[in-house]
Amino acid sequence: MPDDKAAVKEQLSVSEYRYRNMFAAMTVSFWELDFSGAGKILYGLRKQGVSDLRRHFVEHPEVVRELMKASIVLDVNDKSVSQFGAESHEVLLGPVDRYWPVASENVFAESVIAALAGQPYFEQVTRLHRLDGSEFDVLFTASFPRESVERGILLIGLVDLTDTKRAQDEVARVTAELAHAARVSTLGELTASIAHEVNQPLAAIVTGEASLRWLNRPEPDLNEAKAAIGRMIQDGQRASGIIARIRAMSTKTAPEPALLDVNTMVSDATLLVQREIETHGIKLIIDLAADLPPVKADPVQLQQVVMNLLVNAIQAMAACEPCMQVGRRLIARTRPGAEEGVRVEVVDAGPGIEPDKADQLFNAFFTTKATGMGMGLSICKSIIEAHGGKIWAAPKPGGRGAVFAFTLPAGA
Ligand code: ADP
Repeated sequence: MPDDKAAVKEQLSVSEYRYRNMFAAMTVSFWELDFSGAGKILYGLRKQGVSDLRRHFVEHPEVVRELMKASIVLDVNDKSVSQFGAESHEVLLGPVDRYWPVASENVFAESVIAALAGQPYFEQVTRLHRLDGSEFDVLFTASFPRESVERGILLIGLVDLTDTKRAQDEVARVTAELAHAARVSTLGELTASIAHEVNQPLAAIVTGEASLRWLNRPEPDLNEAKAAIGRMIQDGQRASGIIARIRAMSTKTAPEPALLDVNTMVSDATLLVQREIETHGIKLIIDLAADLPPVKADPVQLQQVVMNLLVNAIQAMAACEPCMQVGRRLIARTRPGAEEGVRVEVVDAGPGIEPDKADQLFNAFFTTKATGMGMGLSICKSIIEAHGGKIWAAPKPGGRGAVFAFTLPAGA
């Protein structure tokens, strides 16, 4: 009946319209693939008696390439156009082999094997080429509904994993840094035992003044004096050995320089001390200069420096009651440095420092804190100087507080 026919046609076109809409508007890239040419090649292989396709593909990788050349993109949705950097849908049509790097060939081969084994779909993470030749990470899915397969048509879905990968890398990086930060902070807990260890050789050195008595006799006993001095030297070496071990533990032995963006590094470091900042009711101001050159530095070591300065600033303000009245403000600032380098400043509103004592703060074991170890700034100084930079402290101009600053030469 004509009315029925019209209704069926109407239904079909609604369904076609819905399918089109889905295909076009999804945030996943979809390809409709004509697989009939590849099917013919596979049929030929079977006729030649090839039964183990996986082995055949390994022994004849050129066959996988041929299959790709014979697999033709018939249609793509809007997302594919942006994902592959194309100007229009049409540009993407044609053989798929140009999207497949050699390293990803086995994923294509496995999807063919899955289709022939009658599996409903295949899914694997791999890398593909954009039109400009750059590679990106994707989740490749191929579905093999029987009706489509019989018509030689496959539907491919591609989810861009670039952001996911970046987020994963970021998590791995921050985790590694946190682990390192945790190791550095346990240094504080080791203070008592390290102080004890260093104190022993120092005490022995002080008793070495006996050598003076051997010398001050009317008839100096040079042998005794020599022996006493020898023991002093040994004790001194023991003490410096202990310090060297602590330093190695906290600066890491092998710096791994990389070109890095100081602004990112400073913002990351502030994230790691966010909790302390909040606990002590401190207002953090991040003031980053635009257009800074990259610096060549070990990212973990540099982060350690900035973190040390931030933690010191937080501790200085937290321990200072009168500072509460002016407000606890912490500024992390970056600026272009002299000779095209970069300068980083950590400014606090704590008790400040005396100008003539500013240099002393960087000496190993200088501390004014009951549980301090006095290693933080000394380690910062070794790290910055090893990177060709300078570090210093000064009273905050025009107000209560301190400025700790360092410079680094430009990297490129
Ligand atoms: P520690 O924190 O274990 O004392 P540091 O080497 O990090 O070791 O610091 C050495 C000393 O420098 C501190 O004990 C403190 O007296 C002084 N100092 C560091 N940062 C500041 C600051 N922001 N304001 C005032 N004094 C500071």
